[in-house]
Amino acid sequence: DPSSALAASNSTSPLQIFVRAKKKINDIFQEIEEYVVETGNFIAALSKDGVLVTEKEVVTMDGYFNKVSGIKEVLARDHMKVAFFGRTSNGKSSVINAMLGDKILPSGIGHTTNCFLQVEGDESNEPFLTTEGNAERQSVSGIGQLAHALCNNRLGDSSLVTIHWPKTRCQLLRDDVVLVDSPGIDVSESLDEWIDKHCLDADVFVLVSNAESTLMNTEKNFFHKVSQRLSKPNIFILQNRWDVAASEPEYLTEVRQQHMERAVGFLCEELKVVAPQEAEQRVFFVSAKEVLQQRLADSGHQAQVTALPEGFSSRIFEFKDFERRFEECISKTAVVTKFDQHAQRGRAIANELQELLLHIQQSAGQEREQKLQQQRTLKQRLHQVTQQLDTATHVIKDNIQRIVHDIDRKVSAALNE
Ligand code: GDP
Repeated sequence: DPSSALAASNSTSPLQIFVRAKKKINDIFQEIEEYVVETGNFIAALSKDGVLVTEKEVVTMDGYFNKVSGIKEVLARDHMKVAFFGRTSNGKSSVINAMLGDKILPSGIGHTTNCFLQVEGDESNEPFLTTEGNAERQSVSGIGQLAHALCNNRLGDSSLVTIHWPKTRCQLLRDDVVLVDSPGIDVSESLDEWIDKHCLDADVFVLVSNAESTLMNTEKNFFHKVSQRLSKPNIFILQNRWDVAASEPEYLTEVRQQHMERAVGFLCEELKVVAPQEAEQRVFFVSAKEVLQQRLADSGHQAQVTALPEGFSSRIFEFKDFERRFEECISKTAVVTKFDQHAQRGRAIANELQELLLHIQQSAGQEREQKLQQQRTLKQRLHQVTQQLDTATHVIKDNIQRIVHDIDRKVSAALNE
């Protein structure tokens, strides 16, 4: 059963590191939001009494609410992004299609990608296109039509066309990976603009190189520029078309070793983006064409390849190895770059809320203390007044008694006379 096989491979996929982290941080922000709403209601109720809470604190609470919903929105959209670069016809589109297991991007002669093409998953059942600055959904009924639509794209080679592909058709897209194809780096003069627009938020870069030739200066220069802008970008190098090179087996080992040495030297010594012991795990000798054929056959879209060329299974294996390392790398990187900042902000908001509540609690305590003190003073005064009254009553009583006595005496004296 292919769907259960998919589910099984899914649960062990390194991409799950990101998928789970995303779920977790979304849940946490859901909780923070509830907490903010509850605190907001409490503070709003207090502010009606106008004693413990200032207007400023009510406004601050609104600020927290907006911040948290903003972060939640960004989090919901967060994904892992991989960008593919290389010279025209090295096989960028083929590599992307092979990874997606489907012919999504047009490839081959006459289908030179003349803009940035982003493939991302969508909940809808039918694929559609959007172009930069235009949210209108354009339908894509087939790859031919897509190629045609792209040929008519005159927006310039830095512009972006997004292909929204049904998530149900592809595991990689379901796991929130976004893949970006680029025009050939050999034909563009807008490399700096490319980097600004499309590279700064990429988690992984894949240089699709041609195993039939060596790394070119145009390829190298582009990645020098990238690594000036980003600190230690994650770069994989695919030596594609290895099936073609393998048709001349006499020099295969030497050619491979030579390519490997140059690629490792480029990553370690020139770019200094990876340690020497890890560098060999960043370079793979593959055939995107074969992998795509194999996957299309496996999914029943194409007839099985019958006569397998020399080295076919080891190239397939090496591509899978690349995918695994790539998934590990992108997943871990994206968790750090996408979620770390949000986690810190969430923590800061929780701390500030706590301080605000503590402050209100303290003011309430002071208020009570003041009231108690007032009560005590009042009691004391009451006591004093009572005492004074008592004394006065005594004096009056004494006086009256004395007067009565006097009168008595005077009356009896008068009577005796
Ligand atoms: P892009 O311009 O870099 O996107 O290159 P494409 O993916 O369009 O590939 C250009 C041509 O090379 C197409 O005809 C592909 O079928 C072919 N191609 C791509 N990858 C391979 C490969 O690994 N081996 C062979 N033999 N041909 C390939």
